[in-house]
Amino acid sequence: MGVINKLISIVVPVYNEQENIDNFYSEVVKHMEQLAYCFEIIFVDDGSSDATPLILERLTTGDKRVRALIMARNFGHQVALTCGLDHAQGDAIITMDGDMQHPPEMVPLLISKWEEGFQVVQTVRINTEGVSWFKNFTSGMFYKLMNALSNVQVAEGGSDFRLLDKQVVDSFRRFHERARFIRGMISAIGYRQTNIEFIAPKRFAGQSKFSLKKMLHFALDGITAYSKTPLRFAFYIGILLGSVSIGLTLHVLYIKIFTDEAVPGWSTITASILLLGGLQLAGIGIIGEYVGRIFEEVKQRPLYWLRAELGPQMAKDKQAP
Ligand code: UDP
Ligand code: MG
Repeated sequence: MGVINKLISIVVPVYNEQENIDNFYSEVVKHMEQLAYCFEIIFVDDGSSDATPLILERLTTGDKRVRALIMARNFGHQVALTCGLDHAQGDAIITMDGDMQHPPEMVPLLISKWEEGFQVVQTVRINTEGVSWFKNFTSGMFYKLMNALSNVQVAEGGSDFRLLDKQVVDSFRRFHERARFIRGMISAIGYRQTNIEFIAPKRFAGQSKFSLKKMLHFALDGITAYSKTPLRFAFYIGILLGSVSIGLTLHVLYIKIFTDEAVPGWSTITASILLLGGLQLAGIGIIGEYVGRIFEEVKQRPLYWLRAELGPQMAKDKQAP
C-alpha cells in the first residue's frame, strides 16, 4: 500500500489515565496502520499526579510518531484540548478521549468523511453504556437549555470526539477567550460540517474525572459564552414586575379614594418586598456571573503553560496564545 502524503494528528487529553494509555495507544496505532496516512499522536497531560507522564515518556522514546505535552498543572479538559490543537500540525486533526469512550475503530470513518470534503466531522453520542440516569438527565437538560438560550446550536450528545480540517483549526486558534466551550466554538465557526452518531462504551479503566461541580462550571461556561439571554431575562422580569406594581398601586388608590373599605394587609407588602428583593438578588447574581467572566478575560493571562514537551521537536513558530 502506498503512503498518502497527508498527516493526521490525533490529540488526546489525559488526566490520571495510567491504566488506559497503553491500551489506547496500541488500539489507535492498530487502526491507523491499516490506513496509508502518516500520523502523529499528541498526548496532552493535564497535570496528572499518577504515572501518566512516565508512561508518556516511555511511549515518546519508543515511537517517533508520539508526542507529549506536559502541562504545568491541571487546566481542565477544554484547555488541554486547546493546547493539543495549538501544537498539532496535521492536515486533519482528530480530538478524542484517552479512556476508550471514543472508539478508535471509528477513526477511519471520520477520515473518510473528511476525504468526502467535510471539514468538521462531529460525533454525536446517542447513548452511553453504564451511565447513571442522573448524568443522562442532566446532560439532556443542559443541551436543551443551551440551545434554547443561545444563538449557536449544539447537537444533543455532541462530544469532543471530532475531526477538524487544518483550515478550521487555524480559525479556531484565533479564538482567544478563556472560558472555553469548544462544542459551541466549533458550531459557531461554520465550514462544511457533518455529524455521525455513535454509542459510547464504558470507560476502559479508572473513573470519570468530571465531578458534578466541574460539570456545572462547564455548563455555565457554555451558556454564558454564547448567550446574553439570562441578562435580558432579568430585565424582562423587572419590566413585568414594575407593571404589576403600578397596577397594584392604582388599585390601592382606587380603594382608598372611592370606597369606604380599609386598604388590607401588611402581609401583601411584606410578600412583595421579599419577592422583589429575591428577584433583585437573582438579577445581580446573573450580572455578577458575566462581570466575573469579563474580569477573567481582561486579565489576559496565558491559557496554559507547559512543563515539558516530549518526543519530536515542535515547529518553533507554534506558540501558546
Ligand atoms: N480530562 C482532562 N482533564 C480534566 C478532566 C479530564 O484532560 O481535568 C481528560 C480525561 O483524561 C479523558 C477526557 O478528558 O481522557 C474525558 O474525561 P472523562 O472520561 O473523565 O469524562 P467523561 O467521559 O466521564 O465525561
Ligand atoms: Mg470518559
